[in-house]
Amino acid sequence: TLSDRLTSVLKNLRGKGKLSDADIDATCREIRIALLEADVALPVVRSFIAQIKERAKGAEVSQALNPAQQVVKIVNEELVAILGGETRRLNLAKTPPTVIMLAGLQGAGKTTLAGKLAKHLAGQNHTPLLVACDLQRPNAVNQLQVVGQRAGVPVFAPEPGNGVGDPVAVARLAIEEARKSQHDLVIVDTAGRLGVDEELMKQAADIRDAVQPDEVLFVVDAMIGQDAVSTATAFQEGVGFTGVVLTKLDGDARGGAALSVREVTGQPIMYASNGEKLEDFDVFHPDRMASRILGMGDVLTLIEQAEQVFDAQEAEKQAQKLGAGELTLEDFLQQMMAVRKMGPIANLLGMLPGAGQMKDAIAQVDEKQLDRVQAIIRGMTPAERADPKIINASRRQRIAKGSGVAISEINNLVNRFFDAKKMMQQMAGRFGIGGGSATRG
Ligand code: GDP
Ligand code: MG
Repeated sequence: TLSDRLTSVLKNLRGKGKLSDADIDATCREIRIALLEADVALPVVRSFIAQIKERAKGAEVSQALNPAQQVVKIVNEELVAILGGETRRLNLAKTPPTVIMLAGLQGAGKTTLAGKLAKHLAGQNHTPLLVACDLQRPNAVNQLQVVGQRAGVPVFAPEPGNGVGDPVAVARLAIEEARKSQHDLVIVDTAGRLGVDEELMKQAADIRDAVQPDEVLFVVDAMIGQDAVSTATAFQEGVGFTGVVLTKLDGDARGGAALSVREVTGQPIMYASNGEKLEDFDVFHPDRMASRILGMGDVLTLIEQAEQVFDAQEAEKQAQKLGAGELTLEDFLQQMMAVRKMGPIANLLGMLPGAGQMKDAIAQVDEKQLDRVQAIIRGMTPAERADPKIINASRRQRIAKGSGVAISEINNLVNRFFDAKKMMQQMAGRFGIGGGSATRG
């Protein structure tokens, strides 16, 4: 994954001033591979990376993030922006019914989606009517009827006198029916073909002309990868659409199709389908898709949290103190609180790449123990925190009483603190950190 490959780049120290061109190039190279692996179309990758480089070159170096993390953050922000930023709401007709037409290849998931969308909108106080305009496949009408029944939404289907054999007539009659029966919303399911062909486009365009839809949703299987671009282009030219629905996101597709379709057609992705069941449906979340495409999972969350909490200047001071052997219990308390502000330690560890292998260790993190350590330090006076050497027997007794722990726990903490301090001094000596002349990058 990208996070694995970025590990070497991520080893860089925090920079100064501007991000270096080398940092940006190295990180962009990895991002480019990640995008291609996610099935983003090559021309889209190219223009996207060019844009990222532009922006990264002008960016101030963050105090909280290293250069690679910072580029990843920029990439993520741009990705979210391109994927649509805020989710667009459905275009409703001024005079009901609002007509939503579904278009896409056979097997894309139109009929399944019709039911999901109907249920979703019914839950928002709409009164949808499903319309069966796929008269191509023998079982298609029945399939929609089953879906409608599950969703609790009525289905308008062809029957004698109801435009049998002619999807355009069915569509027209359905709109009349919706007006009569006060449905404020009509969802028109249409036929697809296995590939793009002229007959399919003509039929879809005829239905479109007959019902004058407020939205045409292009339904596309996220698993078709690179083909999404040519299919989307064909549908845009042949029928035109106002929004995109991605289906089969429960599969292992990384979702680069989303980025490509969005970029190439300029139309927003509005809904996501992630399973065969009616409930497997969501409005589209650009941020979730961005992290899926990047394959960074929760690393992005971690970057965000690190930025919120991490005060680089403070850390710098700490590193100096640490090297000089001046670390105090007060510093320790502050750092511990800063880390814990990000959430339970086990969760934080769980977000790191490779957390799977550390499952057992993570499960053993005892938050209660950490609470007690904090309580002990809080029970100390500033002088004691600054110089734990002065904590004699009577002071230990007072702290134990004040923080509600046994004296042995205080002994433990103080001893471990001295051990850690000694070890850090040794390490600092070996790596030449601290003592006024810090070495960097
Ligand atoms: P249509 O030809 O475009 O109407 O596609 P269908 O709605 O009939 O779906 C084709 C197949 O894909 C069916 O077997 C559906 O159960 C399945 N399907 C549809 N949407 C999803 C989805 O989001 N995830 C998964 N795993 N399967 C889906
Ligand atoms: Mg269908």
